[in-house]
Amino acid sequence: MPLYEYHCPTCNHKFDKLQSMNASGADCPNCEQPAKRIISVFAAVSGRESGDTGFSPLPPMGGGGCCGGGCGCGH
Ligand SMILES: [Zn+2]
Repeated sequence: MPLYEYHCPTCNHKFDKLQSMNASGADCPNCEQPAKRIISVFAAVSGRESGDTGFSPLPPMGGGGCCGGGCGCGH
């Protein structure tokens, strides 16, 4: 379930809320006025929600540098 971030334009309060993807919105817990959803990183990657931290970017190519043969620069 993605975590959404909200900002209340009425009292300028920010808060987070766990909601289902198709939730319509949230009210500010401070003043109970409708708050505006801020697009969050979590919403953008909502496919991951198991707490799996297996994300590991590939390390940069080491050793070869420009002339390692991989870049095709002609050196
Ligand atoms: Zn508010």
